[in-house]
Amino acid sequence: MLVMAVSPLTGLAISGQSRMTACARSPLTGAIGDSQCGGFFPAEMRSAAVDAIVFTGRAPEPVYLWVHDGEAELRPAGHLWGKVTGEVDRLLKAEVGDPKAEVAQIGPAGENLVRYAAIMNMVNRANGRTGMGAVMGSKRLKAVVVRGTKSPKPAQPAEFRGLVKRLKELQEANPGINWFGQYGTAGVLAIQDKMGGQPTRNYTEGTFEQCKDIDGSTMVKTILKERDTCYACVIKCKRVVEVHDPDLEVDPVYGGPEYETLTFFGSMCGVGDLKL
Ligand code: SF4
Repeated sequence: MLVMAVSPLTGLAISGQSRMTACARSPLTGAIGDSQCGGFFPAEMRSAAVDAIVFTGRAPEPVYLWVHDGEAELRPAGHLWGKVTGEVDRLLKAEVGDPKAEVAQIGPAGENLVRYAAIMNMVNRANGRTGMGAVMGSKRLKAVVVRGTKSPKPAQPAEFRGLVKRLKELQEANPGINWFGQYGTAGVLAIQDKMGGQPTRNYTEGTFEQCKDIDGSTMVKTILKERDTCYACVIKCKRVVEVHDPDLEVDPVYGGPEYETLTFFGSMCGVGDLKL
């Protein structure tokens, strides 16, 4: 069984609340798998009048679920199987005829039951932990596409607006939150390195001599084009990058690297070049 669920507050314009949790037995650990994503998918799922979706069993052929304003429909996805996320995102938005539809999907890793495969939405936002993508793959569920017009309304609009305004003021006055918006999760590398806790060369060391070359401050000065956000979030910690190098093909649709990517493809492998 796989459950995708949002909270009663999801879809309201509260900074940092656009979250969808995917739960199932983890193929990686055998224990409870619980993984959370951000982006615009969670808010759109709520606008589609859905609080939770429970998937049981296994489809005989690949399918995707199309949910729009409370209506749910399983559609064939054989033509999408084997394709990567950027292409599938474009194809599904065209297929449902709405560029504002949001797509949570698996790529070839989930299809092939890689035990730590992620579920991706907006192509670059991940339910990245505990292998929930492999659970989708085991059900031959390629994607969930949501679109709706039934966004939730606060019961007391004036009080709600006051609380949102206060939250925004508190966030904007908080130096830690501003720092996080500026450098994103990539900023954590330098802190971890300073404390001797930056995973390096397959955990044999806790500091990386080229950490400065791959951390968030270097990204800001080199490949960062702009900051992106999740629904209603004022922090904008997501990275949009642009790499100008004739020898490298970097598709900006996949977003800039997060702390985990920089660590596992960077310091853990002894690689100190941000562009790689
Ligand atoms: S933009 Fe960053 S801080 Fe804001 S909700 Fe998304 S992940 Fe969280």
